[in-house]
Amino acid sequence: MDRRQLLGLGLSKLWLTAFGAAGLALVRPAVSEGAQAAERRPDRKPAGGGTTSRPRLVMLDPGHGGNDPGAIGTRGTFEKEVTLDIARDVARILADRHGVAVKLTRHDDRFLALDERVALTREAGADLFVSIHADSAPNADARGLSAYILSEKASDSFASRLAQQENQADRFGKPGSVGGGRIVKDILMDLTARHTRHASLAARQILVEGAGKELRLLDNPMRAANFAVLKAPDVPSVLVETGFLSNPRDEEILRDATARRVVSRVLAREIAGVLSSPAFA
Ligand SMILES: [Zn+2]
Repeated sequence: MDRRQLLGLGLSKLWLTAFGAAGLALVRPAVSEGAQAAERRPDRKPAGGGTTSRPRLVMLDPGHGGNDPGAIGTRGTFEKEVTLDIARDVARILADRHGVAVKLTRHDDRFLALDERVALTREAGADLFVSIHADSAPNADARGLSAYILSEKASDSFASRLAQQENQADRFGKPGSVGGGRIVKDILMDLTARHTRHASLAARQILVEGAGKELRLLDNPMRAANFAVLKAPDVPSVLVETGFLSNPRDEEILRDATARRVVSRVLAREIAGVLSSPAFA
């Protein structure tokens, strides 16, 4: 039994205690789903040469899609296209160079509600969730990469507004598709959530520090806000803003295939580094 299963059982026990069997139906720890996902993983050396025999699974989440374009750059660049291209590229590099199994929440230009993205991640038994974005800011000078983890309290008012903006993605879906927020406040108290938070913090730090060696960073790049898509209680989750489509220089990078490749390569390398870190042992 690995750590995820142990944590999953810990979660079940807590929920049984607090809510009875009905609570389990709501939370659905991904023990059996995790086992199924493991069978689909390639039989390769895990990232970082760790002692575990199974490769790690990363769920990459290209932000937006379908009738939700996300941010639109001054030159007409659609965030949903940038995020899909980067996610596909990161997936290919992670699999080919780093032996990491990868799934994507979407492979094409389609709408996905935020809670569907979280559900797919938990069902797959992912070790890490990385949501990829490229947004806009009222200040056109703002530029550079940053990364967010979940927090009830935003790191500043811009982070708070950005999370509100992202959480509104569900308005493009069917009425009633917004959900998942109510139980999270309770669940943040338990053991699994504490592990998830610790690992999310480590993931954000490794991603940002590693990316900063080659890519431009936003001022105060380690950020936090109340993003609905980061609310899986049992999967460490980070949202990466690769840059700002509202900044002409960032947009130039993000709309250029060669420059985007550099972003993808750096993200893949640092995601592999996250999985090899002590917080993910
Ligand atoms: Zn976005």
